[in-house]
Amino acid sequence: MKYSVFSLIRDGLSGARRLPPILQHSDPKKKYGIIVIGAGGHGLACAHYLTRNHNINDIAVLDSGWIGGGNTGRNTSIVRSDYLLSASFELKNFSLQLWKTLSQELNYNVMYSPRGYIDLAHSDGELENFICRANAMTLAGARAEILSPEEIEYLEPTINLRAKTRFPVCGALYQPDGGLVRHDAVAWGFARSASNAGVDIVQNCAVSGFGIRDSRVIWVETDKGRILCDKVLISAAGQSASLARIAGFELPVEMINVQAFVSEPVKPVLKRVVNYNAGLSYISQTDKGELVMGGASDGYPSFARRGSFARIEDTVVRAMEIFPFVSKLRLMRHWSGTADIPMDGNAIVGQTPIRNLYMNCGWGYAGFKATPAVGWTMAELIATGRVPDLLRPFSLDRFEEGALIDDSGIGPYPWLH
Ligand SMILES: Cc1cc2nc3c(=O)[nH]c(=O)nc-3n(C[C@H](O)[C@H](O)[C@H](O)COP(=O)(O)OP(=O)(O)OC[C@H]3O[C@@H](n4cnc5c(N)ncnc54)[C@H](O)[C@@H]3O)c2cc1C
Repeated sequence: MKYSVFSLIRDGLSGARRLPPILQHSDPKKKYGIIVIGAGGHGLACAHYLTRNHNINDIAVLDSGWIGGGNTGRNTSIVRSDYLLSASFELKNFSLQLWKTLSQELNYNVMYSPRGYIDLAHSDGELENFICRANAMTLAGARAEILSPEEIEYLEPTINLRAKTRFPVCGALYQPDGGLVRHDAVAWGFARSASNAGVDIVQNCAVSGFGIRDSRVIWVETDKGRILCDKVLISAAGQSASLARIAGFELPVEMINVQAFVSEPVKPVLKRVVNYNAGLSYISQTDKGELVMGGASDGYPSFARRGSFARIEDTVVRAMEIFPFVSKLRLMRHWSGTADIPMDGNAIVGQTPIRNLYMNCGWGYAGFKATPAVGWTMAELIATGRVPDLLRPFSLDRFEEGALIDDSGIGPYPWLH
């Protein structure tokens, strides 16, 4: 069914009785050409582009929970491509291009809002680093600007840069094309499109084992029985390392707890997304008026999906330094997700040591923005067997070869990236 203003009026008048179910199927068949483990944005995007770009629909997407119930439905929905290293920049910038037309492509409003992303610098050294990034982005064809404190205040009049704070703001890197996309709409938009094209999306169906013969995957064990397959993609974020271990190989990935929360809704006070870099506290305002805030990880490996008062306090204190009105707001909801972070802080996407078993993981708290680009390129890899140029740097082999992609130059401390 195609959504349009006319169908909206018709279905509204008929009490939505004619609306068909969004998903076509729920029980798995005995065999598929391709099984995708994980109905998050990445897994669903891959299924969508397999059907759209490669005309393949003998696919099942299996999830232990529900569509978008992992990090896809828990993130703060920021999209941007302001990265220094070309591997990171190219993939995320390709994503930014895809976001622009995704609502039309899926016939599902993903609410892409290119409202701009302001990254605050708190020292001359940090500003120099931002200038370097802005130059690299401009040379690669993206829009990037360096802002003075006065220009930041002009763009965001409610910001307070004059208070004597511990981490004064001396400028910012501004990406006008960065912004927000509605995260659960992304999951449901991809799911609906893939399902309409014949993909089976099976919820409450955890994968717990793999059948491997001659170093090749031939079936997966699930809650709903054994399913034969030709190819498998693991796209299970926080559970990737566990699934890899079951399949017989290790990933250089650690799991951390990442939190976010929203305030009660207020009238528009903040247009863009603002990131306070000293200690990390990022803030944006939803269309409903809530202020969404996120902070750094807990700082140690964890599978816990719960918040900690220390991290909330830490994040809110920083937000209040630049937006004093935050002190008057009440927090309304708070949640967290299990983020998977490799030793260099960048994703692992591509082939595994098991033939026809592919891996997409390690996106930590930066993978939402890459959703369409990962789906597009993974679909190409799985369909053709050729590694797309955009994915080449993200292979698992890089940890053996030393070709790391360490955007922040921190080294092997995943929870600091
Ligand atoms: C609090 C928070 C804020 C964030 N903010 C941002 C942001 O602003 N911008 C940004 O770009 N990124 C952000 N991220 C990161 C982003 O959310 C993730 O990188 C991205 O959503 C990963 O998508 P995914 O599809 O790979 O994983 P997920 O959405 O987590 O999907 C994985 C799925 O696999 C399923 N699964 C797991 N194990 C199994 C199994 N054994 N069998 C079957 N299914 C299984 C899970 O149920 C889940 O649905 C944030 C993350 C968090 C936690």
